[in-house]
Amino acid sequence: MTRRKIVAGNWKMNGSVESVVELVESIQANDAVEVVVAPSYVYLPLVAQSLTGSKVMVAAQNVSEFAKGAFTGEVSLSMLKDFSVSHVILGHSERRSLFAETDVQVARKVASTLEAGLTPILCVGETLEQREAGTTLTVCNSQVDAVLEEIGVELFEKVVIAYEPVWAIGTGKSASSEQAQEVHKGIRDNIAKRSSKVAEKVAILYGGSVKASNSAELFAQADIDGALIGGASLDATEFNSIIESAK
Ligand code: PEP
Repeated sequence: MTRRKIVAGNWKMNGSVESVVELVESIQANDAVEVVVAPSYVYLPLVAQSLTGSKVMVAAQNVSEFAKGAFTGEVSLSMLKDFSVSHVILGHSERRSLFAETDVQVARKVASTLEAGLTPILCVGETLEQREAGTTLTVCNSQVDAVLEEIGVELFEKVVIAYEPVWAIGTGKSASSEQAQEVHKGIRDNIAKRSSKVAEKVAILYGGSVKASNSAELFAQADIDGALIGGASLDATEFNSIIESAK
């Protein structure tokens, strides 16, 4: 089956009013690729407005696990929906390691994101120690299984997975296309144990030092359905070349 390619940019805690507008206006989308950008919460309204009439979609980098109330500093799904946000990045390794987000919290956030009608981009990935210990697939599949157990396999076809080896994020050291393909296939095979139909449909993006110079090779792999990009998504020329290479 042919799955549509998705190219998503995670801008993390970067940008200014001026730079996000300039960046978003420079993105060259095409009909063959789904393009998503994830600015900081505070720039979501501005970016969504700048993208009026564009095919480029907007993601949040996280969301609260609570619907509303006394949760200082949190942002809810209904608030995101007010600003045409269509995707939410969940379980990014920086959230897991720096903000102690657990598999259970991530799974609950995926469930409520789907319930709200938005698309979760579920990040999974192993540390260097875990890779060296030979537990890469065990780690990634247990992160995926936590979500499968929370939402059930049928709903899982609406989830986008981003396989992001922690050792490749922001390091300039991408996984090779063979290493990435091996893990993507292992994740898909694990989902297929519950439903081969869902496993075939689920988009699995690769993330970790993707650049214009390595994206085409990654995208040529059978189980790599696009990319979640950090650093290179802040550079319009790089990001546009990556989008182009996903066609
Ligand atoms: C990320 O943070 O999701 C990421 C993949 O970052 P980078 O592309 O900079 O490695």
